[in-house]
Amino acid sequence: MAKQAPAKWGVGITTRNLQRQFGDLKVLKGLDLDIQAGESLVIIGRSGCGKSTLLRLLAALDEPDGGKLDFVGESEGSRDHSVRMMYQEPRLLPWKTVVENVGIGSVEPVEAKFALHEVELDSKAQNWPASLSGGQKQRVALARALAHRPELLLLDEPLGALDALTRSTMHRLIESLWQEHGFTLVMVTHDVSEAVMLADRVIVLDDGAIGLDINIRLPRPRVATDPIFVGYEARL
Ligand code: ADP
Ligand code: MG
Repeated sequence: MAKQAPAKWGVGITTRNLQRQFGDLKVLKGLDLDIQAGESLVIIGRSGCGKSTLLRLLAALDEPDGGKLDFVGESEGSRDHSVRMMYQEPRLLPWKTVVENVGIGSVEPVEAKFALHEVELDSKAQNWPASLSGGQKQRVALARALAHRPELLLLDEPLGALDALTRSTMHRLIESLWQEHGFTLVMVTHDVSEAVMLADRVIVLDDGAIGLDINIRLPRPRVATDPIFVGYEARL
C-alpha cells in the first residue's frame, strides 16, 4: 500500500502554574511541565491524583482554573493543533463498520484504510466492532486517532483492560508508530514496566504537582526518511 504523507513533527507543550479544581477539591495545584516535541512521556501516579484531568486539559476538552498551557511549535500560542486521545475503552460506534469507525470526523476513506493498515487490521475493515477482540478494538481506536495525523497523541490507560500478551503487542505497535510518525506521545499508565518500555521520560503526579521527573533515555532515532520529514529534522 502506498505510504501517506507523514505526520508533522510532534508539537511541544509548556504549562506554567496550571491549576484545576472541582469545587473544593484542588486536583492540579500549579503544575509546571515542559514536554518536548516528539517526546514520549509517561505519567504515573495513584488513582485519583489528577492524571486524566491533566490529559483532558492537554486535549482542550477542559479548561484550567488558573495558570497557562501553550503549544510550542510553528504557530505558537494557537490551539490549532491536531490532538487525539485514546481511552481504556475503545469507544467504537457499534452500528458502524471498522473502517467507518476509523473514518469518523472528516477523514478521507483512503486515510482511514491506510490507518487500519498501519495497525495491521486491513482484513477487518468491513467487520462490525462487536466481532473483534479487545486488543483489536483498541487497535481500531488507535487507527482512528492516527487517521488524523496527530501532532500530540494522548493515551489514558489505553491497555488497562487487555491481557499481558496483547499489551506487549500493543506496546511494540505504539512504539513503532511513534518512531515512524514523530508525534508527541503522552501516556498515563498504572503499570511501571509499561512506563519504562515506552517512555523517554516518566513523571509521577503527586498531591497536585510533579513529585518525580525521571529521564529514562535519550530520544531514539526516527526511521522516517520522507523528504518532508527530513526537512523538519533539518530545521530543528
Ligand atoms: P486519575 O486519572 O489520576 O485517577 P482524575 O484526574 O480522573 O484522576 O481525578 C482526579 C480527582 O478529581 C478525583 O478525585 C476525581 O474524583 C475528581 N474529578 C475529576 N473530574 C471531576 C469532575 N468533572 N467533577 C468533579 N470531580 C472530578
Ligand atoms: Mg484516570
